[in-house]
Amino acid sequence: MNAETIAIVGAGQAGGWAAQTLRSEGFAGRVVLIGDEPHRPYERPPLSKAVLSGDAHADTTHLLKPEAFDALRIDWRPNVGATFIDRAAKQLHLTRGAHVSYDKLILCSGGRARRLNIPGADLPGVFTLRSIGDAAALGAALSAGKRLLVVGGGWIGLEVAATARKKGLDVTVVEAMGRLCERTVPPEISGYLLQLHAAHGVDVRLGTGIGRLAQNARGGLTASFTDGRALECDAVLAGVGLVPNDELAREAGLACDGGILVDSQCRSSDPDILAAGDVATWHCEWAGRRMRLESWQNAQEQGIAAARAALGIAVNHQPLPWFWSDQYEINLQIFGMPTPAHDVVVRGDRNSSSFVMFFLDAGKVVAALGPNAARDLRFARRLIERRTSVDAAQLADLRVPLAKL
Ligand SMILES: Cc1cc2nc3c(=O)[nH]c(=O)nc-3n(C[C@H](O)[C@H](O)[C@H](O)COP(=O)(O)OP(=O)(O)OC[C@H]3O[C@@H](n4cnc5c(N)ncnc54)[C@H](O)[C@@H]3O)c2cc1C
Repeated sequence: MNAETIAIVGAGQAGGWAAQTLRSEGFAGRVVLIGDEPHRPYERPPLSKAVLSGDAHADTTHLLKPEAFDALRIDWRPNVGATFIDRAAKQLHLTRGAHVSYDKLILCSGGRARRLNIPGADLPGVFTLRSIGDAAALGAALSAGKRLLVVGGGWIGLEVAATARKKGLDVTVVEAMGRLCERTVPPEISGYLLQLHAAHGVDVRLGTGIGRLAQNARGGLTASFTDGRALECDAVLAGVGLVPNDELAREAGLACDGGILVDSQCRSSDPDILAAGDVATWHCEWAGRRMRLESWQNAQEQGIAAARAALGIAVNHQPLPWFWSDQYEINLQIFGMPTPAHDVVVRGDRNSSSFVMFFLDAGKVVAALGPNAARDLRFARRLIERRTSVDAAQLADLRVPLAKL
């Protein structure tokens, strides 16, 4: 591969992995890593967990220690935004009038937290959570005895609710849909999460939207809901999803549809431009449809795959989707993409703190999930990846070790 300069937009998890992979694959040319944050590449999962609770410092999220990062000889441009891609000239324009010429360009610009679209959404005390800066701002507002309103019963909202309870806040979660994490888990798991939060004293209100926020006389906020009720609180966390940062690609005329369209070699509609992580959408064979995977695993693996593909190495990015969430004493993991069409087999007691739900299609396990079941889920992953035919009765039988299947 003759590329001399490979530019990466976004110094997040995917961008960080792309940069270090270029070096580990022996690329000796120039790697320019453009990031509009002040931080070296870092992982976001702890921002709603240990960093938010104060148990871990934000520096612990960095992919590499400063010396290891410096040793990669990366031309890292912190606090710099990429503003325009001139595809004809193969130049990337940056804030403050600078530009970088590239041979290959990897877009790892992730996404931003969607903001509430209601009156009062920009008031002080209303937060979103995506970056280290966001976690610092929200964390400073989470002191014991205060009341937090979480808008959105998805993963980020629920993790923040759990962390806030741990810190001694009163917490209310409102979710406009009829159940928690509706887009990603079956109803049984939504019910499990509901019970989990209720058991920890969170007031969860389903089927309730938020209509407006206003400052109140106490210096706090009053939230008015679509069901006519109101709530006084000290802080609001909007956990209402992610907007992919694909404007750069769209303005450059790359094919986009709710994210930058790439193939399983991470190539966009311009063969010299690749994309990876939360901003990329591609046909996931495990899901049987095109999608963006907003997960730690995908950011890392697709970042690696994009870097290798930029170097001309054959890749086929089709990881079995894996996601986890930590809430209270529960570590919930999901492998594959469960759908209502699958047959369900439960191993263990679904009302306990540890069990596995298997999802079968024509006698083969295609997805599995469960709380505090990391060991069983490791075996489940193998069953899925090897497309093993299984006996449902054996799968449910705790006396039959999964390793035997
Ligand atoms: C609070 C939180 C908790 C999470 N918890 C989990 C979890 O428990 N499990 C799990 O699997 N996943 C979790 N995730 C998801 C996971 O962190 C993301 O999928 C992952 O960070 C995506 O990586 P990325 O590199 O694609 O994007 P990002 O990490 O968002 O990086 C993109 C970077 O690009 C920068 N950028 C954007 N546009 C430009 C531009 N024009 N110029 C320069 N820079 C730009 C952004 O500022 C950002 O720094 C969590 C995410 C969050 C926010």
